Amino acid sequence: NAPISQSDPEVAEILDSELHRQQRGLEMIASENFVPKAVLQAQGSVLTNKYAEGYPGRRYYGGCEEVDKVETLARERAKELFHAEFANVQPHSGAQANAAVYQTLVKPGDTILGLALSHGGHLTHGMKINFSGRFYHAESYGVNPDTFLIDPEIIRQRALETHPAMIIGGWSAYPRIEDFKAMKEIADEVGAKFWVDMAHFAGLVATGLHPSPIPYADVVSSTAHKTLGGPRAGFILAKKEYAKKINSAVFPGEQGGPLMHVVAAKAVAFKVAGSPAFRNRMERTLEGARILADRLMAKDVADNGITVLTGGTDVHLVMVDLRHSDMDGKQGEDLLAKVGITINRNTVPFDPRPASIASGLRIGTSALATRGFSTAQYEEVADIIGTALAQGSSADVDTLKARVDKLVDDFPLYPGLDQID
Ligand code: PLP
Repeated sequence: NAPISQSDPEVAEILDSELHRQQRGLEMIASENFVPKAVLQAQGSVLTNKYAEGYPGRRYYGGCEEVDKVETLARERAKELFHAEFANVQPHSGAQANAAVYQTLVKPGDTILGLALSHGGHLTHGMKINFSGRFYHAESYGVNPDTFLIDPEIIRQRALETHPAMIIGGWSAYPRIEDFKAMKEIADEVGAKFWVDMAHFAGLVATGLHPSPIPYADVVSSTAHKTLGGPRAGFILAKKEYAKKINSAVFPGEQGGPLMHVVAAKAVAFKVAGSPAFRNRMERTLEGARILADRLMAKDVADNGITVLTGGTDVHLVMVDLRHSDMDGKQGEDLLAKVGITINRNTVPFDPRPASIASGLRIGTSALATRGFSTAQYEEVADIIGTALAQGSSADVDTLKARVDKLVDDFPLYPGLDQID
C-alpha cells in the first residue's frame, strides 16, 4: 500500500505534471472547471470498490447500506437545487445520460430534431456516426443566418417539415439563452417530446442566473463538470411520471454498476452549488464573459476581420468568429496556447473551413472564476487575448506570457496540493 509516487512513479509523474500544467496555465476551455478538494476526495475514495447495481433500497448486491445513503443524498440535493420532481444521478457521463433520455422518450428509427453540430449542437444530438444519428432518424435546425441566434420560428418550420418525435434543446457552443417556453409550444404543436440538455449552463440554472428548462422540458439531462463545477459525470432530471422509465433506461438499459465514488462526488458538488459562494462564482463567470466579449469587439481586433458571434454573450462563453480573418481556428488556438491560455477551436455556423481547422474559437470563463478571478483579472486576461488575436503572428508572445504568469502567481490553484500521493 505504498503511495503512488513509490508504487507507480511513472503514473505519479504524469499526475504531478498535469497538476503543474493546470496550475501554471489559464484554463479557458468552456466545458472545463476545477473541482473543490472535497470532490477530489470523494472521487478518490473507497467507494470506488463497491458494486451497487440497482437503486437505493433495491440493489442486486449486498453491503450497499452506505452507498445507498450517499446516492439518496445526491438525488435529494439535485432535486432541491434544480426544483425537479425526480433525479437519476447514476449516468457515468453526459453522453450516457443522453443515451438514457433517448431510451426514455423515443424508439429507434424515430425522427429527432436538434441543433446542428456545426451550429453548436452536441454529438449526442444527432451527429451521423454517434449513436443518436445511427439509431434514430436525425434532423437538425440551424441558427438564424442573419442574427446567428437560435430562432423558434426556424425550429417550428423544421418541426413542421420533419415531424419529429422529440425536439432537443441545449448546446455545446452557443453564447445566448434559448426560449424554452417557445420550444415547448412547438413540441406540443407537432406532438413531440421536448428534451433539454443543459450540460453547459447547469451551474447558471442552479443559481437562477439562466432560465430553467425544468418547467418546460419532459426531461432535462446534464453533466456535473462544466459550469456546475463537479466531477466528470452526468445526471437526469424529470417530472415524476418519467421516473420508472428513466431509472430502467440508465440501469440496466445503458449501464451496469454505478460509479459510487463519482455519485458521492456529485452529492458534494450539488451541495457546493447551493451555496452563496457558488452563486458569486457564477456571477463572476458571467461578468468575465461579458468583459471578454467587449474586449474582443474593440477596434484593434475588429480591424483584423475578427468578430464576436451574436455581438456578445449571456452565458459563460464567447464565440469568436474568424471566418473573415486570415487567422484560422487552429492558428488562434495555437497562439493562445503559446501565451499560456488553453481554449479550443470550434466551427462557427456556415464555416467555410474544415472542422479540423475551423473558423471559430470557443472561450469560457468558468474555470477562472473558480480560481478566484473577478473584474480586474478578467479585464487583464481579456486584454491579453485581445492583443494576441489582434497582433496574430507578430504578437509579442513573451510579454503576453509574462502577464499570464503574473495572474497565475496571484491566483494559485490547489495551493498545498503540490504532490499527488
Ligand atoms: N451534452 C452537451 C451539451 C455537451 O456539451 C457535452 C460535452 O461536451 C455532453 C453532453 C457530453 O458529456 P460527456 O463528455 O460527459 O459525455
